[in-house]
Amino acid sequence: MYSVTLRTAISRFRLSAHHLAIETGRHTKPLTPADKRFCLVCHDGCVQDEMHHLLMCQPLESYRKPLLECASKVIPKFNVLSACDKFIEIMKSDNSDLLTQLGIFFIQADKDSLTSHSRISS
Ligand SMILES: [Zn+2]
Repeated sequence: MYSVTLRTAISRFRLSAHHLAIETGRHTKPLTPADKRFCLVCHDGCVQDEMHHLLMCQPLESYRKPLLECASKVIPKFNVLSACDKFIEIMKSDNSDLLTQLGIFFIQADKDSLTSHSRISS
């Protein structure tokens, strides 16, 4: 069984109780249009939504590697799925090893993302 900390990290992501730009842009004044809620971690001009964060944001690659390695072992044909299907399969999994890796990814990526945000605002 994975820890409360990991479960909390996963639950926050599932409930959109996170700091990704796709969500924080809803609360800016004036409202930031959804297509302008850019990722401040990679600065690639990508919208920072859940799928970008989980599967695509390049600076988070090292945190993502153990998660994807685990996913490729527990989800059939994972490596040939589209990014959208990979996202769905990871998020709907009830495999405890995968959920542990998912929680660890969120915690590590959040620390990195928050550091990036504070660098931008200071
Ligand atoms: Zn990014």
